[in-house]
Amino acid sequence: MARPTIVVVDDDPQVLAAVKSDLKRRYGAQYRIVHADSGAAGLELAHKLRLRNDDVALFLSDQRMPQMSGTEFLTQSSGIFPRAKRILLTAYADTNAAIEAINRADVHYYLLKPWHPPEEKLFPVLDDFLDDWQAHYRPAFDGLRVLAYRWTRDAHTLKTFLARNQVPYRFLDVERVAEAKNLLADAELSDSELPAVLFPDGTALPNAAPSQVAERLGLKTHADAEFFDLVIIGAGPAGLAAAVYGASEGLHTLLVERDAPGGQAGESSRIENYLGFPAGIAGSELSRRATTQARRFGVDILCPQEAVSVEVDGPSRRIVFADGGEVLCHVLLIASGVSYRRLEAPGLLELTGTGVYYGAAATEAPTVEGRDAYVVGGGNSAGQAAMYFSRFARSVTILIRGDDLTSSMSQYLIDQIDATPNITVRNHTRVVEARGEKGLEQLVLRHDPTDTTDVVEAAGLFVFIGALPHTEWLDGVVRRDAKGFVLTGADLVGDDGQLRNWPLERDPYLFETSVPGIFAAGDVRSGSVKRVASGVGEGSVSVSSIHRYLATL
Ligand SMILES: Cc1cc2nc3c(=O)[nH]c(=O)nc-3n(C[C@H](O)[C@H](O)[C@H](O)COP(=O)(O)OP(=O)(O)OC[C@H]3O[C@@H](n4cnc5c(N)ncnc54)[C@H](O)[C@@H]3O)c2cc1C
Repeated sequence: MARPTIVVVDDDPQVLAAVKSDLKRRYGAQYRIVHADSGAAGLELAHKLRLRNDDVALFLSDQRMPQMSGTEFLTQSSGIFPRAKRILLTAYADTNAAIEAINRADVHYYLLKPWHPPEEKLFPVLDDFLDDWQAHYRPAFDGLRVLAYRWTRDAHTLKTFLARNQVPYRFLDVERVAEAKNLLADAELSDSELPAVLFPDGTALPNAAPSQVAERLGLKTHADAEFFDLVIIGAGPAGLAAAVYGASEGLHTLLVERDAPGGQAGESSRIENYLGFPAGIAGSELSRRATTQARRFGVDILCPQEAVSVEVDGPSRRIVFADGGEVLCHVLLIASGVSYRRLEAPGLLELTGTGVYYGAAATEAPTVEGRDAYVVGGGNSAGQAAMYFSRFARSVTILIRGDDLTSSMSQYLIDQIDATPNITVRNHTRVVEARGEKGLEQLVLRHDPTDTTDVVEAAGLFVFIGALPHTEWLDGVVRRDAKGFVLTGADLVGDDGQLRNWPLERDPYLFETSVPGIFAAGDVRSGSVKRVASGVGEGSVSVSSIHRYLATL
């Protein structure tokens, strides 16, 4: 945590050195003492400090300076750090000006030069003012600050990326938070450069995209080696489990994730059915633990990095990344999971990311605070999201097409929903339109049995309706089922009992795809059970098949 700052301004180098030396001796452990040799330089310094999120406890300025007097400087500095204490250093001849400054300008006190001995004439006064300042001091947040308009897709993408990668940040809405406007001015940024990220060192990144922020934060996007025993695409439960087992059993392992470790499970507010956690565990916490465990075993993790294609190159498998980089490996494990299907209705596409969200979008909880939220879907993920948002929203309405939740949701969640007064379930109801200027404002809902529509105010629409696999990057390489899920093991055998295009004498191993040495596990696999525990199970077990394959090389 950075120490608060004391700023000294004086154009006389000797006086400046003397004040700084006294201040450092007395306050150096608690405060950072910085200086400027003119009023203009002092103001510039104050702007820089604000940009770095430093706090100024005290401005101490000489009165007599060319161009800008101490009174003028202190008055202007109050616009930058209004809570800071402001004290003038004056010669006896300037006493009247100092008194005037206290009466008229924003100056708290004046001290006469020379102030020796400081124990008597300087420190007691400063102690009082600094104690007063400390009484109301709240240490500044020292993570990233994101400046953006709340209702923009880029801001949503950036916030989600930071939250899911567990990077602490503070969101400052430039429309509603005065501090955000000041920071924009300090960083000399315009509206067209939003979202912008301010880093703790005071630098700003305009039009901040997740990959650029990742680079600045030192998140790893390039592998240390060119060749690995095992490359895993996707760091959801399946990929993380395979990484832990693979690396712990001696395989040189690379794990590649395009968004954030944890996958869908990382988006879950509370996983209640994972063995060993009787009170449930937040998806983000499970992901954090698994990622730490993988790192401990020496897994190289690239994030954010996306696999865009794969080529079979003799015994090697070559994986090409979105930035053009590539790695080679003996074995590729596809653990790229699924994501939610899109809902089709006028207005939904335009408002996606600005009120309409797919998946949990926990970062958007403040958006629905005290307002009405809608959740589409009748599965467990929809139920969990409804429970989560019910803690913030005035009301949560679950929209389902069927009669009730019993056929699609676990009974424990149905019981929780029944016991939550601000959640209602509307059956046989679908969204036929989303409306809003800057962000979602209204939904048009249709109740099919009665052939009626109604318009409701809505601050957020969270959609959880079935899943599509992330397999487009495998086009033309591995066989998939009609919905795009990867076929493995015995599922590669056709209705005629024959393995098509399988090049080896032996049968494919468990979780092996139509290409020897390429395996698939978790939700992306055709016929898999879409659960955290099964993803973890498949990821772990696939490693034993991988060892069998490696033994044949
Ligand atoms: C909100 C929510 C709540 C849930 N709650 C529960 C629950 O309580 N209990 C339960 O058992 N299950 C729950 N599930 C389901 C469970 O999370 C999934 O079954 C599980 O996460 C699947 O794991 P996976 O590793 O196969 O895939 P995923 O979790 O989907 O992970 C795949 C990862 O691969 C990455 N990826 C995709 N393509 C690429 C690429 N080309 N390059 C790099 N990376 C890529 C994705 O970004 C993703 O991180 C929930 C799901 C959601 C969305």
